[in-house]
Order: sequence, then structure tokens, then C-alpha cells
Amino acid sequence: MLCSRFMFAMKKQLAILGSTGSIGRSALDIAERFPDLIDVVGLSTHSSIDLLVSQIQKFHPKYIVVTDQNSYLKFKKTFDFQSVELIEPSTGLERLAGHHDVDIVLNAVVGAAGLSASMATVRSGKRLALANKESMVIGGELLNDLRRQTGAEIIPVDSEHSAIWQAIHSGKSNEIKKIILTGSGGPFKDLPLDDFSKITLEQALNHPTWKMGPKITIDSATMMNKGLEVIEAVQLFGLPADKIEVVIHPQSIVHSMVEFIDSSIIAQMSYPDMRLPIAYALFYPDRIISDYGKANLVEIGHLTFESPNFAKFPLLKAAYVVAKIGGTMPAVFNAANEIAVDAFLKNVIEFHKIPDIVINSAERHNSIANPTYQDILDADLKGREFAREMIK
Ligand code: NDP
Ligand code: MG
Repeated sequence: MLCSRFMFAMKKQLAILGSTGSIGRSALDIAERFPDLIDVVGLSTHSSIDLLVSQIQKFHPKYIVVTDQNSYLKFKKTFDFQSVELIEPSTGLERLAGHHDVDIVLNAVVGAAGLSASMATVRSGKRLALANKESMVIGGELLNDLRRQTGAEIIPVDSEHSAIWQAIHSGKSNEIKKIILTGSGGPFKDLPLDDFSKITLEQALNHPTWKMGPKITIDSATMMNKGLEVIEAVQLFGLPADKIEVVIHPQSIVHSMVEFIDSSIIAQMSYPDMRLPIAYALFYPDRIISDYGKANLVEIGHLTFESPNFAKFPLLKAAYVVAKIGGTMPAVFNAANEIAVDAFLKNVIEFHKIPDIVINSAERHNSIANPTYQDILDADLKGREFAREMIK
């Protein structure tokens, strides 16, 4: 009895924003396996109604949000779940994130659309388990200011940043020499640059080590994902970009490392399985008993590391410049990429055009330092406009 009461007191009241996506589904897999530790209070989808309905039937959340207006209106007509509230979409994610019934928000929305919900979570002083790296990339300064005011925790879910978070606590902040951010290199690591013009959508969607949503899979193929992660690390860990080194590690076993002033390098390792960093972010500072990503080092045999090829992946190089400029520049860089990736996914542009569109868009922007939320929204719109003009 005492034990079950203790468990109840510990139960996390979790809202999952983007529950129908790759990260969202992995989080629900954890909730299903640990029903004594997690109550799923809220769920959201953009337009995957059938999947949301099956999630409601299984997890009985109190609140749901459908962010796509047309899907919401259609769903509302047939909605007949007792004791589930369908929150109106325009401010739905923010209202769910700030709701007093919720104590942890997992933001697994894709793209800049996740920023307002990240801000609402941090503003209300709750733990933000952050998969939506774009919100840290474009609104890192705002989120950091808010977390200083409210004391909210932002625990990264991105596997590299989770690894850094775990390793960084081995020393003091003034003892960190650098962060070593690993990346698989994506499907085109060994493809000659001359062949990039022939890359197909199917090849770009075929990531060698991770199964993820389509946008981040394309970002991994262009290495924009690693670039976004450099900016994400700058914001999360408060280090300058030149203290963040990207190293290619094709096996995706070492998820990142921290090197300290005594030259010790601390790494975190597992087989690739996002449930491990998701569970870590939900239960931190505790660890749960699980075999997510359980690695057999003898079976793995060898781990290799190499330098990234900046000539083949110019978006990675550009991300360092963008990180140094800061202000509203990351919002333009990210927004132009969202438009270019979407156009590639719809077969409107070729793969090798993505970096040109993103870099040219960023070059057209004069960054505003110490941006307000409105400055970031305006920059995001501008980045989209620049990219659309170039695609035309
Ligand atoms: P998915 O595309 O698989 O899922 C995205 C989720 O967000 C879906 O639920 C989707 O709804 C919803 N969504 C889409 N557009 C909007 C919108 N405009 N407003 C609100 N919700 C929206 O993405 P992933 O799960 O792969 O990635 C989610 C985030 O996590 C990204 O920021 C990504 O960079 C990050 N991440 C992902 C990793 C992974 O392994 N997948 C690893 C590390 C980070 P619908 O189903 O209707 O489309
Ligand atoms: Mg990552």
C-alpha cells in the first residue's frame, strides 16, 4: 500500500505534443511499459486523426489538441469522447503545455511551430523534455531568459544533447574544454560530391542508423541536422560555437562526448534507440530499469571517428557562422530550410539545391540582436518568403 502510494506520488503527469510522430510514438511506448510511473494527460497531432483516436482509446488523456484547422473542424463534428476535452487549435498547444494538470511537457512537434509551446511550458515553470530542437535553435535566448525567471528545467531529448547533458555533469562548467558532437554522417557520407545532383528522395529518406520523421531524416542527409544541433548545443550549454566540434561516427553508438581541461573525454553510449534519451528526460535525475538501446560492445567490435566534409555539407559549415551571429539569424536559417526540405519532399526541387536556398536566404537577412518573440516570428516569415522566392 505504502509502495503504491509512493509510486502514485511519483507519477508524471505527461503531455506529449506531437504524439503521432516518431518521437511521440516512442514516448507512448514508454508510457505503456511504465503505467505506474506515467499518466498521459494530454496528446496532440497536426492531422493524423486516426492514429490520435487509437492513442486516446489506449491512454485516456484528459486533453487533446489537433493543430491543423481543417482536421480539427472535421474531427470536432464526429468527436464523441466522454471526459476528453478537445482544445481549440489556435492556442491549443500553449494552453495544454501551461495547464495545471500537466507537470512535464514532451515537445515532439516538428519545426518552428513548436516554439510557442516550449515558451508556454517554460513560462509556467514546468519541465520541458525537448525533442523539438528548432525551438531552441530559433528561440534559445528567449527560452534561456524565461528559464532563469521561472526556474523551469529544459532537459534535452535529442540523443546528442542528452549524451552531453549526462557527460557534462562529470566536471564543473569552467572545466569544460569542448563538446564533441557526434553524427552518423547520413546516407551520403561516402558519396562523391559530383553525384549529389542524382540523389533521389528514396535514397535521402534511407538513414543508415536512425528511423525518424521525414523532415529530420532529410536534415540528416544534408547534415543541416548536425548544424541545427551545433546551435542547439550553444543555447543549451552556454558555450561558444568554436568549443563544439562535430565528429563523424558512422556506427551511432557514442552519442556525444565532453572533453574536460585535464583532457579526459566522457562519452555516453548505446545502440540507437530514442526511447533511452526520452525516458532519461522524463525521469531525470532518476534512471529507470530498462533495456532501451542496450549495447553489446563485443558484438559492435569497433568504433570509428572521422572529420566531417564541409565542402560536401555546406549547411554544417554555415551553421557555425549562424550560431556566431545569433539574434534572428537562426530563425531565418531554420525557416528557409523547412521550406526547402518540404519542397524536396514534394519533388519540387532537387536535393543539392537545398543548401543553396538556405544559405542564400540567410545571406539576405540582417540579423537583429537580442530579439523579441515578435522579431523571431517576423524573421521566420522572412526566411520562408526568401526560400519560396528562390524555389520559384
Ligand atoms: P514527425 O514528423 O515524425 O512528427 C512530428 C509531430 O508533430 C507529429 O505528431 C505531427 O503531426 C506534428 N506536427 C507536424 N506539423 C505540426 C505543426 N505545424 N504544428 C503542430 N504539430 C505538428 O517528427 P519526429 O518525431 O521525427 O521529430 C519531432 C521533433 O523531434 C523534431 O523537432 C526533430 O528534429 C526532433 N528529433 C527527432 C528525433 C527522431 O528520432 N525522430 C531525434 C532527435 C530529435 P502529424 O502526425 O499529423 O503530422
Ligand atoms: Mg540528434
